[in-house]
Amino acid sequence: MKTVEDIEILFPSSLEEALAGQAHEKTRGRPLAGGTDLMVQWASGTAPIPERAVSLGGLNELKGIRETARGIEIGALTTHAELRSSPLIREKLPALAAAAATIGGRQIQNRGTIAGNVANASPAGDLAPTLLITDGSVTIASAAGRREVPLTRLYLDYRKLDLRPDELIVSFALPPLPAGARESFRKLGPRAAQAISKVMAAARWRVEKGAVASLALALGSVAPVPVRLFELEKWIVGRRLDAALLDEVERRASAEVRPIDDIRSTAAYRKWVAGRLARALLEQ
Ligand SMILES: Cc1cc2nc3c(=O)[nH]c(=O)nc-3n(C[C@H](O)[C@H](O)[C@H](O)COP(=O)(O)OP(=O)(O)OC[C@H]3O[C@@H](n4cnc5c(N)ncnc54)[C@H](O)[C@@H]3O)c2cc1C
Repeated sequence: MKTVEDIEILFPSSLEEALAGQAHEKTRGRPLAGGTDLMVQWASGTAPIPERAVSLGGLNELKGIRETARGIEIGALTTHAELRSSPLIREKLPALAAAAATIGGRQIQNRGTIAGNVANASPAGDLAPTLLITDGSVTIASAAGRREVPLTRLYLDYRKLDLRPDELIVSFALPPLPAGARESFRKLGPRAAQAISKVMAAARWRVEKGAVASLALALGSVAPVPVRLFELEKWIVGRRLDAALLDEVERRASAEVRPIDDIRSTAAYRKWVAGRLARALLEQ
């Protein structure tokens, strides 16, 4: 029987070299970043053990956080520890920093990466809602070139992304929090720390003269993919943010999601929590 020790690990030293290898099935390997999802999946048998894995650790092109004209650019290999402690992320993308701080414990945060969280494509991946509310995009590369995919179009179906086997995620470009806007992240798990989410939510919103001027609201673990609540977002603009509106936000958020029963929770409970979290975000 094949074990993790049988995997041939490749160590390309540039993105170009890695992409050249990924271009052909015979030389392609499973991208390996922090390994915090993959090692568990391989060891438990929930993912097949591949012939080869490509360690991404030597690819400097996938590292770093910087501010550019496209927004905050975050390299694919940026760890949760870097996201939670970066002054730039904490100021300009506070929901992302908050979500990263809830992932696993310190060991996992030191190894787990932003691209690994996204490419694992779990509906329970904590970063997704905080990325979706920015209306940002992801840069994806293959030997044939680069392409940019809006994050709202990246998640196609349960554990399925718009990402081919010959492609690698290079970076994320995320518009920062606009002046006067606020962001928040909430997660509900079975316990206060080291918890996989039952439901999580993130919002970016702006209130002007007591009324909601804009809202982006995203939830995870309430559908096969992380979702934006576009109907609620459209409905709320121009309405006064008061107690009656919060009641209606709770009702509408709960009605708009389509969760399922699984080992972590029931659909009915998730529906109720979705409403409560949406309300809690805007109540702050
Ligand atoms: C104890 C423990 C606790 C955890 N707690 C949480 C939690 O609270 N919340 C949460 O969301 N997750 C949690 N996780 C899951 C995991 O830590 C995160 O999803 C992490 O971000 C994965 O990143 P990684 O770099 O380790 O990914 P890896 O395991 O290296 O890879 C994950 C997937 O992404 C692909 N991949 C990685 N990088 C790229 C790239 N650049 N381009 C294309 N594909 C790529 C890999 O091929 C693989 O399919 C936990 C895991 C453990 C073991």
